[in-house]
Amino acid sequence: MKDENSYIDPKIKRDIRSSMCSGLVERTAKQVVGNKTIHADFAYKKDGPFYCPECLSDVIVRKCIDKNDHFAHKGRLSNLFGSSESQLHKDCKQEILTELQKAFPEGKWEAERPIKENKEKGFAPLVPDISGRINGKAIAIEVQRSFLNVKTITKRTEEYTKRGVAILWVIPLKEELGSDYFRPRLFEKFLHSMYFSRTYYWLKGFGTKVIATHFGRAERWIEETNWYDVEQQEERDAGGYWKVFKTIREPVFYQNTIDITKDFIVEEAKEWTPENEDLTVPKRLIFKDNLKKWWTDKPTRK
Ligand SMILES: [Zn+2]
Repeated sequence: MKDENSYIDPKIKRDIRSSMCSGLVERTAKQVVGNKTIHADFAYKKDGPFYCPECLSDVIVRKCIDKNDHFAHKGRLSNLFGSSESQLHKDCKQEILTELQKAFPEGKWEAERPIKENKEKGFAPLVPDISGRINGKAIAIEVQRSFLNVKTITKRTEEYTKRGVAILWVIPLKEELGSDYFRPRLFEKFLHSMYFSRTYYWLKGFGTKVIATHFGRAERWIEETNWYDVEQQEERDAGGYWKVFKTIREPVFYQNTIDITKDFIVEEAKEWTPENEDLTVPKRLIFKDNLKKWWTDKPTRK
């Protein structure tokens, strides 16, 4: 890593932000075949495929007019709606609300019901997307907007928990996630941790159904390579093993869609920092599925 004062090209900065990895900052990457390090200035498409030495994602070389050739992460993302496509957000809210009102007519289900601030108790005001009761238990459902950050999710979750309201976060998608490896965004990883290693995706027409998705670990095969180390005056070798992707995951879906009106329970959960993650999820009251773990912890090899 370069020291903080050194110049980093804005294009590389953008890549660091979106990929959550600074492994390409030196403008070098690894060649999949032969596993040699190559500098962007000398790398052409024909020399690929390439991967990032830090997170192991596939990367591409970008030849630039200003000569600042560089590598960029390629990881696939889930297809969220953009800020101008809030219709999907509205549809998601309306469909879930309608179905909940049908399933629990006594539950006083409403969209955007304001919950007032309570200064005495230190409660901040809240406006849950959807709220009501199931068997007397207060439930709030938040439909993820595309750019909600982890801080906001944490804050809201804590506020609901203080009030004894169980929270469910749902992520509407424009199209199915698909089973290829992908790179979960920070908030997706965070929600995944909040719900004990699963995330709930919603598609148009789903009503109260969601797709419970686990982000499984996957490994990349690192090719064996050997070279002559001039300084040490000896033959060296590396690679020839599988290594876990840092930011890339395999979506592991529960076989069927599950239903918010039937397959969910209220659960209290302690503060938690998952292994290999740096984000801590707060103590929380969540509305989560009642499924048994449907994945294995063994990383996938393709
Ligand atoms: Zn990387």
